[in-house]
Amino acid sequence: VIEAGQPEHSVVTTCAYCGVGCSFKAEMRGTEVVRMMPYKDGGANHGHSCVKGRFAWGYATHKDRITKPMIRAKITDPWQEVSWEVAINHAASEFKRIQKQYGRGSIGGITSSRCTNEETYLVQKMVRAAFGNNNVDTCARVCHSPTGYGLGTTLGTSAGTQTFDSVMEADVILVMGANPTDAHPVFGSRMKKRIRQGARLIVIDPRRIDLVKDAHVEADYHLALKPGTNVAIVNALAHVIATEGLINEAYVKERCEPEDFALWRAFVSEPRNSPEATESLTGVPAADVRAAARLYATGGNAAIYYGLGVTEHSQGSTTVIGIANLAMATGNIGRMGVGVNPLRGQNNVQGACDMGSFPHEFSGYRHVSNDAVRESFEALWGVKLESEPGLRIPNMLDAAMDGSFKGIYIQGEDIAQSDPDIKHVTGGLEAMECVVVQDLFLNETANFAHVFLPGTTFLEKDGTFTNAERRINLVRKATPPVPGYADWEVTMLLSNALGYKMDYKHPSEIMDEIAAMTPTFKNVSFKKIEEMGSVQWPCNDASPDGTPIMHIGKFVRGKGRFVLTEYVPTDEKSTAKFPLLLTTGRILSQYNVGAQTRRTENVAWHDEDILEIHPHDAEQRGIHDGDIVSVISRAGETALAALISERMQPGVVYTTFHHFGSGVNVVTTDFSDWATNCPEYKVTAVEVRATNRP
Ligand code: SF4
Repeated sequence: VIEAGQPEHSVVTTCAYCGVGCSFKAEMRGTEVVRMMPYKDGGANHGHSCVKGRFAWGYATHKDRITKPMIRAKITDPWQEVSWEVAINHAASEFKRIQKQYGRGSIGGITSSRCTNEETYLVQKMVRAAFGNNNVDTCARVCHSPTGYGLGTTLGTSAGTQTFDSVMEADVILVMGANPTDAHPVFGSRMKKRIRQGARLIVIDPRRIDLVKDAHVEADYHLALKPGTNVAIVNALAHVIATEGLINEAYVKERCEPEDFALWRAFVSEPRNSPEATESLTGVPAADVRAAARLYATGGNAAIYYGLGVTEHSQGSTTVIGIANLAMATGNIGRMGVGVNPLRGQNNVQGACDMGSFPHEFSGYRHVSNDAVRESFEALWGVKLESEPGLRIPNMLDAAMDGSFKGIYIQGEDIAQSDPDIKHVTGGLEAMECVVVQDLFLNETANFAHVFLPGTTFLEKDGTFTNAERRINLVRKATPPVPGYADWEVTMLLSNALGYKMDYKHPSEIMDEIAAMTPTFKNVSFKKIEEMGSVQWPCNDASPDGTPIMHIGKFVRGKGRFVLTEYVPTDEKSTAKFPLLLTTGRILSQYNVGAQTRRTENVAWHDEDILEIHPHDAEQRGIHDGDIVSVISRAGETALAALISERMQPGVVYTTFHHFGSGVNVVTTDFSDWATNCPEYKVTAVEVRATNRP
């Protein structure tokens, strides 16, 4: 007899929040989740979890959930509930009308890093095969697209080099632009454990994050640079390594392109890149930079972990390249304890990128202009495919404003909340004639939608997520899909209504197609993941059981490629009108724009975004703790409660982006990474004014 309130059975699945990818047992009573228990055999978490994951089911039954499809003629009209058939046929006929009227390239789609690999693969397939263009992009555009570019260019693959467990063999840990104890808590705890065992720690961050000093750990060096100077500090570190004889010459000679290395060595050795020459620019004492560089190069196994504080800049890709250069120069890639590790934010942002969600790439990062690859997809899918890259998200919005882009299908992504320069986003959406949003809740983007298709939570479907260490975990259905269909089924319905037939009976069949078409996934199947618990790609004939550590012996691209990293200041500068620099980040209890965590018990720990401001800047403006302040940039204005904090350096303010109220992206600008258009969220010139004081 099972007592009331106690679980009857459990389903092992994967957390749908951050890129750590913890495994959980969803303990069930009928179709109701009783609690989530961390799963001891989880390959990423080994039985640990954080406060987000433990309450990760609350939003699935929240009253705000939309469970019926809805349509409306104009965005000012009230929503009208309709059947799935009516909603899907309406969306399909609108997309067909738009293409007839404005051309094949006038519509596109956005995939979601919260959905499964199989769902993401289907959306990009529908765009390429049914829409007949390459106008597909993903929310990775706004976070780790520079990782894809930077690591692909230097090492040959767009992913982190290590397994999470590798940190336990690191002697030196360099954390740059990441806050693992808040944003990737289970991995952050493992990192702290290693530091307590004696690993040395370098933190490069404008803000004094917990890792710099808390009750348990203390960094050897905190390089508190000014926002926007990442490339300058990476070049300064490289300068010390190159000019003090700290290069691992044998490693570089054996494994890297010699001409590119020679150019890089000469470039970073130039006096203008020295810590002394860049001190006033970065704000970091030259002696600290020199000491940190020596520690990184000579302290044993040295591992770099980085986050959005690296990528979300106008030179995000350049910094990623610079980090890879540092690791190659010191021989710190290709074994346990070392490597270059992007800490991916969302549960499946790695997978969304792997699955071909970019306008220029098929699954496995193969360019659409590659005839052999394209022809293989044409043969399987039975259609002619475009060889030219399609539009990225910001280009779709630009084209909408110009009148040439009129329709979009957005699955599980709230671009009117999460993307920068919101006025530009909403202007673009407003200019479109058919916006189809598929989501759990009526999000901000749905305000501009003509068709709303209810989405499903991770508890309601089968599939896979790929975490930040390339680990493919199973997501198992614990309850039936509340709206009747899982997201992958909805995409199939839409594709079929558009006239392009899809007929998968189960997500495992979609994974079989992914494996057949993607060399790095060749040996992946649901059966294999079931047997092994999880598997890290590449998983193919060369590595039939997966690859925890990449680039052993040689780089994926063959020889590692050093690329020059010239520092170019961002155009976003502090001025007399906007004298402070705003940067952003996450907090432990919340996840991204908070659409899920704000509808769980997590809200008890954090129910508003806060502006952290240094005491000096606060005093100058007459701001006191708790004051409601206006944060004003050239893009817009928002209101936040002030927290006076010495975590901040003078001249820099900070807030989270979990979007309580109007949200910080009202003030972030349209500047973006030169290579990938990843927005420059981390540098916005602002002024801050007290509003509730005379
Ligand atoms: Fe693990 Fe991240 Fe989920 Fe926390 S939010 S339980 S660290 S996957």
